[in-house]
Amino acid sequence: PKSIGSAVVPASGKNKFNSDIPFAELCETFQAIEETSSRLAITAICSRFLYSVLERDPGSLVPITYLFINKLGPDYEPGLELGLGETLLIKTISEACGKSTQQIRTKYRELGDLGEIAMQARNVQPTMFKPKPLTVGEVFNNLVTIAKSNGKDSQSRKSSLIKKMLTACKGYEAKFLIRSLESKLRIGMAAKTVLISLSKAILTHEHNGQEPSMEAVDRAESLIRDAFCQVPNYESIINAALQYGIMNLDQHIRLQPGIPLQPMLAKPTKSISEVLDRFQGTKFTCEYKYDGERAQVHLRSDGSMKIYSRNGEDMTERYPEIDVKNYVKDLDSTKSFIVDSEAVAWDQENHRILPFQVLSTRKRKGVELKDVKVRVCLYAFDILCLNDEPLINKSLTERREIMLDTFSGTQGQFMFADELTTTNFEELQKYLDQSVKDSCEGLMVKMLDGEESHYEPSKRSRNWLKLKKDYLEGVGDSLDLVVLGAYYGRGKRTGTYGGFLLGCYNVESEEFETCCKIGTGFSDEMLQTLYASLKDTTLEHPGTNVIYDTSAPADVWFEPRMLFEVLTADLSLSPVYKAGFEAYGKGISLRFPRFVRIRDDKAVTDATSSDQVIEFYESQAHVN
Ligand code: ATP
Repeated sequence: PKSIGSAVVPASGKNKFNSDIPFAELCETFQAIEETSSRLAITAICSRFLYSVLERDPGSLVPITYLFINKLGPDYEPGLELGLGETLLIKTISEACGKSTQQIRTKYRELGDLGEIAMQARNVQPTMFKPKPLTVGEVFNNLVTIAKSNGKDSQSRKSSLIKKMLTACKGYEAKFLIRSLESKLRIGMAAKTVLISLSKAILTHEHNGQEPSMEAVDRAESLIRDAFCQVPNYESIINAALQYGIMNLDQHIRLQPGIPLQPMLAKPTKSISEVLDRFQGTKFTCEYKYDGERAQVHLRSDGSMKIYSRNGEDMTERYPEIDVKNYVKDLDSTKSFIVDSEAVAWDQENHRILPFQVLSTRKRKGVELKDVKVRVCLYAFDILCLNDEPLINKSLTERREIMLDTFSGTQGQFMFADELTTTNFEELQKYLDQSVKDSCEGLMVKMLDGEESHYEPSKRSRNWLKLKKDYLEGVGDSLDLVVLGAYYGRGKRTGTYGGFLLGCYNVESEEFETCCKIGTGFSDEMLQTLYASLKDTTLEHPGTNVIYDTSAPADVWFEPRMLFEVLTADLSLSPVYKAGFEAYGKGISLRFPRFVRIRDDKAVTDATSSDQVIEFYESQAHVN
């Protein structure tokens, strides 16, 4: 394979790229994709463009891939979020294009797309002089500067950079520049399609322009996806693919302390007999399912420690009282590791676990040791890497042994998850009851031996089952749904929202599909809090990626940002909601949904997926 000869980029990206590829070319590709609906045709357009980039300037592939997925770097790197607000953009467009904000607002109400408005305004605007055409490098670097600027004058600094770029925009550029700034590219391109196109382009490049077979593209895409689960950084992955060949990615991209990997997830179950059926004839183990927050603890060989959330967000500052090095048995022989654990609030007087609600009273950032009132105890349940050696392809039995050999537990600070290995129904029942008495949510049941017990980053695996006591009566688990809109409260709830419109996430189409209206389970205080944090995020229109019944709109719409954890008695088909409507013609909706809590450790794209809603619906006894 050809190579660009640069080294694989470690933990964090450069955030600055030299790329002279004209931004106009990228925008023309976006436009062509927007006008196309067939997935195959979209893949062809995208891969052809990426291939042409590779042939001219391989170094441009990273920023262009990021612009395609509307991101500026890995999710774990802070400060790279765009998602600029309407107000700032309307003001900036009006100033750059010589229109009043009122004119822009009126148009916006009509069209619902600031990008389109900016393009129209720009393209009728007479220009005195001809500014230099925008390049991909310039736009990317400016977007990074905009995302990173904060503090006093940040609004005006952002605005003037955007204006400078807008003045140079021609053709479709203004439209996609503004949409990128809003984080709403809206070209109907799923992340999976980008990966397939990327695989195809790199393979074509490796084979000097020869079209690769479908099988080769499938294999390459799955290698990129697996690599991404271990190292969620496109820059590292693309550079490794270009340097060593895409088919050799698995040998060059391995998890490493300092980069959060995507955690393994569990499938819900509704009964102990379901668990016994699933694991029949195999060795499995049960652990307490602690009710706190996932904490992936990394020690790097330079001695620095990091704690990442379920989402890969850096949470180290949140837990100043935790120094996992204190629990390492032999620091001389233990230079680096990645441990998977749950952080739980701990009652230091009574030596017991406290409920999740207590943990959530802790500040998320900038916590100082002297201010820590609610202490956290880590319950370690897995080790994924030791001394830079990945362990995920060892059995759980082996990983547990290594974990126990490496650390020693200390009550109330760092402990190992409580576990029991049995196949006896009564013993399991007792253990489940005991877990709830000990303030846990229930049990995690895990395969112990063989390949099926390997740690599968990012997978919701049937080799890990969750058995939650509270939910045994319902559908087996709670759902995490996106708050799409709200209804004004009446009576006692006047002055706040009285109910909310929730949706699940369709991973394939990248759209939110409505699945219920919820008004139960909120305290008055919670309603006040929700009103205060949501009232300023209302939108004039629901986004085009919100699929809802137009005959039953919400009173107000929000930018999809917040998730509610919700319980439900059961699910039924409904003409009004849209979850999974492609599978059933009608949508699936939650009956008697009840609010449990806000989920702020998940991104909206981690919401319960439409496929999961379908699975819940289909696993209900009356459907089968
Ligand atoms: P999702 O709803 O997407 O599955 P979630 O974050 O709501 O994710 P659950 O699936 O309900 O979580 O349960 C898995 C979570 O349980 C893990 O992410 C982890 O935070 C927590 N957990 C607590 N104890 C354990 C344990 N012993 N083993 C694994 N995970 C545990």
